[in-house]
Amino acid sequence: MKACVLDEWGGSLTVDTVPDPEPEPDEVCIDVRACGVTRTIENSIQGGLEDDPTLTPRVPGHEFAGIVDDVGDDVSGIVPGDRVLAYFYLTCGECDACRRGATNQCANFGGWYGATRDGAYAERAVIPASNALPLPDGASFVDGAIAADGLATPLHICRRAEVDDADTVLVVGAAGRVGIHLSQLAALRGARVLAADIADDRLAHIDSVTSPAVQPIDVRDDDVAARLREATPNGDGPTVVVDTVGNTDTLVDAWEALAMGGQLISLTTHHERSFAPPLTEFVVKEAAISGSRYATKDEVVRAARLLADGRIDPVVTERVGLEDVPAVHERIRAGESYGMVVLEP
Ligand SMILES: [Zn+2]
Repeated sequence: MKACVLDEWGGSLTVDTVPDPEPEPDEVCIDVRACGVTRTIENSIQGGLEDDPTLTPRVPGHEFAGIVDDVGDDVSGIVPGDRVLAYFYLTCGECDACRRGATNQCANFGGWYGATRDGAYAERAVIPASNALPLPDGASFVDGAIAADGLATPLHICRRAEVDDADTVLVVGAAGRVGIHLSQLAALRGARVLAADIADDRLAHIDSVTSPAVQPIDVRDDDVAARLREATPNGDGPTVVVDTVGNTDTLVDAWEALAMGGQLISLTTHHERSFAPPLTEFVVKEAAISGSRYATKDEVVRAARLLADGRIDPVVTERVGLEDVPAVHERIRAGESYGMVVLEP
């Protein structure tokens, strides 16, 4: 089969012919129909998830959906022909967290396919059967690729922050695939949304695709904190800030603008970035900073239902073939790509 292969962490991608993968007894093989080509995968390619050289060469890609075409001998409940979407984390299924459904907090975390093992920048992909979730009727394969991370992650954030109509949610990096779907989801839950980004084309992208509750806001230049507060009712500031970028200057501004009792939620996985306000500021504002880690399996399926029902509009900026994937990653690396690029192998 054809696949897009990474030679080494931080190295280059090449489209090549590789052996067809065969499922182990507890695995399924999936005919890949749609896979996101995203900044998260670029981070993985650069060694941000795994950096052990023995794990390369590697087929990246994890945000995908497709049709089961082969199952291992021990697999039950999934048969060839089933439409599925994939859960990104390799989890044990047996620890307390897994048993209560908090699969994103698995105590025996086994890594990520697309990094720890091969992923879905390929015509076919093999994953553990427990990672293949049912793609709801009415959801396209592209919907599945969006739900797998680009909407499941926002769903987890909104549940953690208990976003509702009393909130003004500031989304930092709103033109990205997580940001654009989070902006829509927060609006669906009744919140006002300040959808922040830093370039004219990215702000125009936000303006063109989201609901009236979503207000694009430019966070370049000076007085960002003051402008953020001015954009909220009574100038109180956003009650929830979700940072998808990890830019420290923007975090400082967002923290300054945060409403009393507000929450700042970080998605940043860049190891070198940190942000630590003085403890007294937590007390004076009764504010919270927390992280949000991917999503549960249940949330991935629920995200797909939101798209299947038309409650969230899937935002796709470009559809590409396997040969185009290396060039898309060059554009992501150069900061020239936003939104959701979908590979259809
Ligand atoms: Zn577990």
